[in-house]
Amino acid sequence: MRARIATVRAPCSANGLMNKLDAQRQKEIQQAEELLFAGPQALGFAKGLFQGHFVSDWVMPYPRIPAAEQSELDQTLTELRKFLSEELDAAEIDRQADIPRTVIDGLGRIGVLGMTAPKLYGGRGFSQMANCKVLEEIGRRCASTSVFVNAHHSIGIRALLLFGTHEQKQKWLPKLVTGEQLGSFALTEKEAGSDAANVQMQARPTEDGSHFILNGEKRYITNAAIAHELTVMARTPVPGSDKTAITAFLVTPDMPGFEMLEARMPKMGIRGTATGRFALRDVKVPKENILGQMGKGLKVALTVLDFGRTTFGACCTGAAKTCLELAVAHANTRKQFNKTLGNFELVKKKIARIAADAYAMEAMTMVTASFIDRGLEDYMLETAMLKVFTTERLWECINDVFQIYGGSAYFVDLPLERMLRDARINQIGEGANEVLTSFVALVGMRGPGMEFKEIYDTMMKPSRDRMSKAWAAGKNRLNATIRVPDVPVQSDQLRGHARQLGRLIRHFNFAVNRALITYREPILDMQLVQERIANAAMDLFASTCVLSRQDSEIQFARRNGDAAAPDHAAADLFLRQSFHRIRGFLAGLTDNDDKSVLATANSCLAKPRS
Ligand SMILES: Cc1cc2nc3c(=O)[nH]c(=O)nc-3n(C[C@H](O)[C@H](O)[C@H](O)COP(=O)(O)OP(=O)(O)OC[C@H]3O[C@@H](n4cnc5c(N)ncnc54)[C@H](O)[C@@H]3O)c2cc1C
Repeated sequence: MRARIATVRAPCSANGLMNKLDAQRQKEIQQAEELLFAGPQALGFAKGLFQGHFVSDWVMPYPRIPAAEQSELDQTLTELRKFLSEELDAAEIDRQADIPRTVIDGLGRIGVLGMTAPKLYGGRGFSQMANCKVLEEIGRRCASTSVFVNAHHSIGIRALLLFGTHEQKQKWLPKLVTGEQLGSFALTEKEAGSDAANVQMQARPTEDGSHFILNGEKRYITNAAIAHELTVMARTPVPGSDKTAITAFLVTPDMPGFEMLEARMPKMGIRGTATGRFALRDVKVPKENILGQMGKGLKVALTVLDFGRTTFGACCTGAAKTCLELAVAHANTRKQFNKTLGNFELVKKKIARIAADAYAMEAMTMVTASFIDRGLEDYMLETAMLKVFTTERLWECINDVFQIYGGSAYFVDLPLERMLRDARINQIGEGANEVLTSFVALVGMRGPGMEFKEIYDTMMKPSRDRMSKAWAAGKNRLNATIRVPDVPVQSDQLRGHARQLGRLIRHFNFAVNRALITYREPILDMQLVQERIANAAMDLFASTCVLSRQDSEIQFARRNGDAAAPDHAAADLFLRQSFHRIRGFLAGLTDNDDKSVLATANSCLAKPRS
């Protein structure tokens, strides 16, 4: 995803800054706006934060899986746990750099490979929340297997599920949802990594229009060499112009001209997955294999990735829970200085942080998955936040548990070195965290940026029509600055945290407004500023999910007559630490070393060392 999104263009145009925008920038902004902002814009939770609102009905009450589905899910989880305990050997998968067919078949039998596909096509028809619980369980045990399932089900067959016609689904899905056939999602190319819109693979229509001829190469594609169906992004001509746009195609490896260049690229972690490179050389694909609309492939890809990022959160949650179990087990048994390690405060601190983060990761995953299940409009910001937040927290969790194990963590008889290697891809795959961080800040700031634009335009060129819009925009901006949004919790003991969260949202909104007014157009390139704003927004979202979950658990216990309040030490700690971080990010907007950071980097970049 291109990271530059228009926010506050108009105020700067008057300053002449607009003239400095090169043609490429304008093209990027136009593309991004067409892609992201076409159609009516509902105020979702994250966009609401940037406007100083707490859109409570998105996040409260904490989502629950309906009872009927929950009992089906419980049965599936029991079956899955038994299967994984008996058949899945994560260390062996890593050593052999392969997931045995018996494991794939078993997952297929249990329904994991078609969990959210409609029953009509042989799937289990589960919600995204239930699917996340399944992925969490797999993520607890083996990252290779969870990435394999994600590549097949979360993204590989997702375009078909979301954008396929009934005929396409009927033709392809029945074998894919059982695992008899496997799916893959192929976007990345040499020149199209983070810059996903820069796909170069070409798809030229045949003269009779019945087929497209595909040419180009894809790399780093999970499952490419074992897939029977690949969702491939390629450029098609835009009729009536010399432009091209991305279109999603369903390609099968038996099509003449499909060449596997490297089936299993040797790699650091998630070694069980088959990550490959392939070329399409004059591959003739029938037009019936187009998924979604011609030229709308980027939209298809981004929607697919919304699902992938949600299950990413679930897998990271599972792995974080494993970190906690491993940390506790070792801290309770390993003795040094005549004490078990768990007696030392610096070890306790790590265990507490892992527990707090695991609680938050689960809450954030479930809330985000519920947006998909409820059919809410536009949760792209929230899925991006979830992906960045959970992958960064998991990296910290693994680092902490690694440290608790000391030298023993370094040896291959324990799972920790594998977990460390496996987790590193998370911050890079499905959108590098830097790109998503910048995206969160820029898309989030667009709302208030447009309101400032309205006000500025009216001041420059007053008109009756404009005055009323500018008045509304001004009132909105002012209200958000004055009013502390209400965070409606049910439990008395959480009201203090809820008030603090409300105050932090107001503080955040104030900081966003100030950044927009201070930096104007150049903020589009100021990633150090964007990062603080995005990080604060992510922690606000995470805290909200934690508060919502904690509130629901307290209320549930009360309704069931449980005298003892549930143990919420981890949730409480998370909120405290998250609130500290938010204050720190916002303070950093005015008190920082950015100039020095940039000067040092620029000096290094200008004089590469030999
Ligand atoms: C094991 C593995 C499995 C994968 N599976 C798939 C798959 O199934 N399907 C698929 O399509 N792709 C897949 N990928 C590709 C993956 O999505 C890309 O690697 C990822 O998008 C990053 O692209 P890149 O590697 O080209 O890095 P680059 O785009 O070259 O970026 C390198 C680094 O530069 C920085 N950076 C880049 N752009 C910006 C920016 N705008 N602002 C700030 N910093 C920036 C980031 O730190 C980034 O990590 C896989 C990759 C791996 C390693």
